[in-house]
Amino acid sequence: MAKIIAEMAIETATMELPDTKTLKLQWPEGYEVDFKTGQFITVYWPDTPTYKRAYSLSSCALDRGFFEVTVKRDGKMGTRIVDWAKAGDKLFVIPPAGKFLPVMEPDKHLICIAGGSGVTPFRGFVRDATRRQLATRITILYSVRTTADIIFNKEFRELAQANPNFKFEVTCTRLGQEDPWTGRRGRIDAAWVRSHIGDAANTVFYACGPTALVEGTHDLVVNELGIPKTQMLLEKWG
Ligand SMILES: Cc1cc2nc3c(=O)[nH]c(=O)nc-3n(C[C@H](O)[C@H](O)[C@H](O)COP(=O)(O)OP(=O)(O)OC[C@H]3O[C@@H](n4cnc5c(N)ncnc54)[C@H](O)[C@@H]3O)c2cc1C
Repeated sequence: MAKIIAEMAIETATMELPDTKTLKLQWPEGYEVDFKTGQFITVYWPDTPTYKRAYSLSSCALDRGFFEVTVKRDGKMGTRIVDWAKAGDKLFVIPPAGKFLPVMEPDKHLICIAGGSGVTPFRGFVRDATRRQLATRITILYSVRTTADIIFNKEFRELAQANPNFKFEVTCTRLGQEDPWTGRRGRIDAAWVRSHIGDAANTVFYACGPTALVEGTHDLVVNELGIPKTQMLLEKWG
């Protein structure tokens, strides 16, 4: 079947955090599409067809019959989805596109750097590698304000149990001194990223999310760590 715009019903709308919701969009009868883990879909509401916005797939290419996207309350579309989208509502979906693709080769190490909602496509990366039992190493370096802001915390920790090649590392930037968190605190910096690099030549870096975060991460990896630009993929949300 050709790549067509399809109207999809929201099968479930799940609050991940108080400001973040995952929509599971059901493919309509006969819908078939080839796509890759790491791509994004573009959606619009039937009543505002000119207002379209992109969302990274938080599901993966092995998931057939539905797409999942995970949206933070931000701006017009983000707020409408988080505050109003519910099971049974319909959205139009432009099929997956994009080149933010995991290089799933056995000798590669993917270091995925994210802040806040920018972690969404990495859930797809890890789900895919874990289900296929790939030898590709994946490390997520995830910056959040507090432990209450970790999206997919339970799921990532379960995936790390199931997949010996996956590591989920979190740093919290705004925890009070009294918080019992024993993990890392502070912003993502060059030393922290460097401590996770083994064979630099076989490491591919990914950064996803708001432009400022992605550009900051690019500077850190390319300018501070001296990694060639060709070993880094960026997904800027604008
Ligand atoms: C490839 C791609 C993938 C994406 N994937 C995701 C994803 O997985 N999850 C996700 O949550 N988002 C994702 N986004 C972002 C998403 O497309 C939307 O941009 C986002 O939900 C905000 O909705 P909006 O564009 O309608 O916001 P707009 O209403 O256009 O606002 C854009 C920004 O401006 C700010 N703003 C608006 N009005 C004002 C004002 N008066 N004063 C100050 N600031 C203002 C808003 O807070 C917002 O940050 C992705 C974007 C791209 C390009």
